[in-house]
Amino acid sequence: MARFACPSYSSQLRIDLGALRANYRALADHAAPALCGAVVKADAYGLGAAKVAAALAREGCRIFFVAQLGEAFDVLDAVGIDSSIYILNGLDPGGEAACAEWGFVPVLNGRGQLDRWRAFARAAGKPLRAALQMDSGMSRLGLDLAALADLAQDRSFGEEISLCLLMTHLACADEPDRAANDAQLAQFGAARALFPDVPASIANSGGTFLSPDFHCDVVRAGIALYGARPGPQAPPLRPVVSLDARVIQIREIGEGTGVGYGLDYVADTRRRLATIGVGYADGWPRSLGGNGAAWLDGQRLPIVGRVSMDSLTIDISDLPPTALGEGDFVELLGPHQSLDDVARDAGTISYEILTRLGRRHARVHVEDQAAEIVAAGARI
Ligand SMILES: *Cc1c(COP(=O)(O)O)cnc(C)c1O
Repeated sequence: MARFACPSYSSQLRIDLGALRANYRALADHAAPALCGAVVKADAYGLGAAKVAAALAREGCRIFFVAQLGEAFDVLDAVGIDSSIYILNGLDPGGEAACAEWGFVPVLNGRGQLDRWRAFARAAGKPLRAALQMDSGMSRLGLDLAALADLAQDRSFGEEISLCLLMTHLACADEPDRAANDAQLAQFGAARALFPDVPASIANSGGTFLSPDFHCDVVRAGIALYGARPGPQAPPLRPVVSLDARVIQIREIGEGTGVGYGLDYVADTRRRLATIGVGYADGWPRSLGGNGAAWLDGQRLPIVGRVSMDSLTIDISDLPPTALGEGDFVELLGPHQSLDDVARDAGTISYEILTRLGRRHARVHVEDQAAEIVAAGARI
C-alpha cells in the first residue's frame, strides 16, 4: 500500500499468523486423509488475503477458495504454482478469458455458468478445469441431481470440461443436531456416485467437525482458520485477531448526566468515563451500545450510551484512578473478549464482526506471537 507510515493510530488490529497456521494444522490433521482447503474470500474474512494465503501455503495448503474473480488475483502471487484457486461464486459474464488465462477454477453453479464455460472451452479447443456445485438442499447455488445426471451422460461435457471437484454446501453445519445435515450428505452421495472419480467436498468449518463422513476428499475451512468457533461440536481454536483501541479522553460526570447520541444512558451516580477512538465506521457494531464492553487488566468496562461513528464511551469507574490514562489502550478483542463473545453481545455471528472490522485500524501481521514474546523477553 502506497501510504506513508502513520505516526499515530487510534486502534491496532493484530493478526497472529502463527495462530492461523496452528489452526490450519489442527484442521488438516482432523480432516486427514481428506485435504484441507482454505477459504480466503472477502480478503480472508478481512484479515489480508495475500498475507493469509502466503502463511497457509507455507503450512502446506494447496487449495484455496475465493468468492469472486477479482479476489483470485489478490492471492495469486501468494500461493504456489502447484496450487488451485477456486472461485466459489463462479463466473460472471465476461470473466471467462481471465479465468482461463490465469488458471483459476470456476465453480459452475448453474446452467448459465456451465454453458458459458463449455462454450469458451469449445472455442479454445482444449478442456478447461472446473468444479461443479450441487444444490443438495440449501437452495442457494448449484445444479440439482437430475441436471448432474444428464451431465454425467454427456460425452461432450467430458471433452470440454476437466472436472476437478464436485461440491455442495451445508445449510446447518453450525447446528449438529439438525436432520438437514444428514439429508444433504445423502443427496450429495447420490451426486458423487455419478462422478466416482472426481474429488468431492461438502464441509465448511462446521461440517469438518460433524463427523468423518462429511470430510469426503476436501474440506473448505474458513472461519475456524481465523479462530472463531464454527459450532458447538468444534473444539476451541487459537484466536488469530486482537484489537486494541486508544483512549482519547477521560472525564467524570455527575448524577443525572446523559452520555452520547440520544442521551440514552444517564448516570445514576457519579461516574468516570473514557471515550475511545473506535466506532461503527471501524466495524464496531452500533448494537453494542449499552450492551458491549472493553477490557483492561481483566476488568470489564461496559459501553455506555450509543456507539458513534468514530468513538464510543466506556465506564471506567471500577478501575483504580491511575489505571488508565489518555493515550492508553483498552482491549476490544483479545484474551478477555473473543470474536464469539462480541458476536453474541451484538446479536450477530463472528463472520460479520470479522469481515466488517474495516481498513481504519492499524494492522500488524505477527508471524509468531509466542516466538515474538519469547524474543522480547530475551532482550531484557
Ligand atoms: C464461505 C464458504 C465456506 C467457508 O465457510 P466457513 O463456515 O467460514 O468455514 C465454505 N464453502 C463455501 C461454498 C462458502 O461459501
